[in-house]
Amino acid sequence: MESRTAADHVLIIGAGQAGVQVADSLRTAGHTGAITLLNDEDAVPYQRPPLSKDYLCADSLAAPLPLRGPEFFTQHDITVLPSAATAVDTAARKVTLTDGTIVEYTHLVFATGAANRALPCPGADLEGVHGLRTLWDAENLQQALSTAQRVVVIGAGFIGLEFAAAARARGLQVTVLEFASRPMGRALSATAADWFTTKHTQDGITLRLNEGVAAIRSAGLGLRVQSTTGAHYDADLVLYGVGVLPRTALAQAAGLRVDNGIVVDSSLRTTVDGVFAVGDCASFPHPNTGARTRIESVQNATDHGRHVARMITGESGSYSETPWFWSMQGPTRLQIAGISSPADEPVVLGNPDSGKFSIALLRDGVLSAVESVNSAADHIAARRLVGQGIKLTPQELCAPGFSLKALAKAEVSLPA
Ligand SMILES: Cc1cc2nc3c(=O)[nH]c(=O)nc-3n(C[C@H](O)[C@H](O)[C@H](O)COP(=O)(O)OP(=O)(O)OC[C@H]3O[C@@H](n4cnc5c(N)ncnc54)[C@H](O)[C@@H]3O)c2cc1C
Repeated sequence: MESRTAADHVLIIGAGQAGVQVADSLRTAGHTGAITLLNDEDAVPYQRPPLSKDYLCADSLAAPLPLRGPEFFTQHDITVLPSAATAVDTAARKVTLTDGTIVEYTHLVFATGAANRALPCPGADLEGVHGLRTLWDAENLQQALSTAQRVVVIGAGFIGLEFAAAARARGLQVTVLEFASRPMGRALSATAADWFTTKHTQDGITLRLNEGVAAIRSAGLGLRVQSTTGAHYDADLVLYGVGVLPRTALAQAAGLRVDNGIVVDSSLRTTVDGVFAVGDCASFPHPNTGARTRIESVQNATDHGRHVARMITGESGSYSETPWFWSMQGPTRLQIAGISSPADEPVVLGNPDSGKFSIALLRDGVLSAVESVNSAADHIAARRLVGQGIKLTPQELCAPGFSLKALAKAEVSLPA
């Protein structure tokens, strides 16, 4: 059994979007001690977003998009160990790896991400039923798509709809089952969700709302998906996207507080000294509402990573970045700034029939979020406006000549 020690050593568990960002930002912030990234996946650290988009549209296997260039880690003296952490002793500041190696740390960062929620129905483990989280999942799907003709997607969330659009673009017959009454219901206003229902339907996707999956069975050479309404759909390939669960088992076993994510304070410190959590696995206080939240997005992972690097290198302060997100569903780009709530008042900006518009969401008269469809300029402006406590009325938003871009410019030029 080997043992590694180092002065001022930052050990990062997980080499995904958040973990790699911590390492990168530590060097930018001037950290001169050792940095180790534990990578438990059999691939160089890569970006997940293309896996449900461009990667699936190609006829042959595309190369995964790496998070950093090939020389990055050696140039920045960052050690990437192809190993998983199996135990953490926070009192002794030691982590055990898969091969029994024990690594000492000064600061520890959990960047363990999330794992797909399992499909809770009979037949979920049949061959031809796929989840999508890793490069390995995407490679399997890519191959399955090349011979499939009928696809059933379970769950009309972002991943399910991105996949559905990619499969449809390849000419496949696509049916999406969603037990809720709207797609993307957890994250999107009803107005935007309804627009996407129409758009996907026009593009030839069969969207079955208020209809969940009851069971999947083998049928001949393919699969038969039985829905909660008693209907059934034949498929060569089933993709499920029914949400994720934060990977917290290791943290919990180490005695950290866990509650739908590893619990951190406003500076992203866990309940144990010297230990942080970032990205999909972290449950943190929302900067505007203070409510505990967990966000699954590239923005959240990278901004968390930058913040923790600053904390480790001696700065203090609360994490306060405005959340934003994007999804590509076929040719349609959806971008969201802020987090909406079902009670928010939606105000449509522009003409949805043109395929280019935004929806401003007002909470008690304050701009809480903006959803933009094929309107990048609105989104960029919204990222500057949301979270600033800006009061607006529907009449102001709908006034002739109003634009989020102009408002953002005016707000920035006002004296603080
Ligand atoms: C298919 C797909 C498409 C997406 N598209 C978008 C998009 O369009 N826009 C957007 O904003 N977000 C998108 N996301 C979400 C985004 O990719 C995630 O929010 C982001 O990757 C989270 O980064 P992370 O580092 O927290 O977690 P991850 O990227 O999941 O990285 C965590 C890493 O930790 C590793 N790990 C876990 N436990 C251990 C251990 N014990 N030891 C060592 N390593 C461990 C995991 O294997 C993994 O490699 C998408 C996600 C998926 C899956």
